[in-house]
Amino acid sequence: MSGRKKLIFANWKMHFSVKQATAFAKKLSEKKIDEGVVVAVAPATISLSPVSETLAKCDIATIAQNGYHRDEGAFTGETSMPMLRGIAKFVLVGHSERRHVFNESNELIRAKMSAAVRSGIKPILCIGETLMEKEHYHTSTVISSQLEVGLADLTSDEVGDAVIAYEPVWALSNGKDFSKHKMPAPDDIKKAVDLIRGNIKELYGIDAASKVKILYGGSSNADNATAILSVNGLDGLLVGGASLGVATFWPMVEAAGRVYKDNLTDKK
Ligand code: PEP
Repeated sequence: MSGRKKLIFANWKMHFSVKQATAFAKKLSEKKIDEGVVVAVAPATISLSPVSETLAKCDIATIAQNGYHRDEGAFTGETSMPMLRGIAKFVLVGHSERRHVFNESNELIRAKMSAAVRSGIKPILCIGETLMEKEHYHTSTVISSQLEVGLADLTSDEVGDAVIAYEPVWALSNGKDFSKHKMPAPDDIKKAVDLIRGNIKELYGIDAASKVKILYGGSSNADNATAILSVNGLDGLLVGGASLGVATFWPMVEAAGRVYKDNLTDKK
């Protein structure tokens, strides 16, 4: 799939004060992004607005880490998708920490997916198996069912516009050990990518399957970025721990630029 842009999306999780997030965004905004690379960052909700203002004049987009499925009402502590409009271009839905720490169900995730689309925010549906599911050979079943339920209320066009992040739960770092953590081999990532596109083709047709963007997330870092980004059919990375500093994150953005360029050369 040469000629497709490479997406490098950063998930800052619950890191950085508003001041720190804004200062970090300012540093990123001064960097030059190579052709063929799309960069976006997901700050904590409280920093979303100032970070999005800081990035307004550069090509880095903002991602909300979460959004509620109801548009407004008595839901203390929540932020609705319409509230994110104009501030975030994307929203993470069903991140493993939302599923496993905050007990979000596939059904809630399904409702959040359609709320995001309804509000014009591009959803990034995160899916992936736990270690126990992997050890019981349930990886494909888990991927397929999370995908099927999460996308159930979307049309083929909406699915084609969405982003899917394959993030095996057992491969996610704690933010500090991202260069030492266990992770799938590129061949296993390729199998997951093929399964996701195959399922989408079956359910939503070939256009949606070829248009949908698929990211990998889980302990990616500057040392393994090139190998992962070279997986055929993969559109990019969702980066957690390694996205928290310019020195660990920007080499990944540069690697994406090189892989994009190499793919173009291979095509000639
Ligand atoms: C994530 O949790 O979305 C993630 C990709 O984390 P990490 O890169 O730290 O494993």
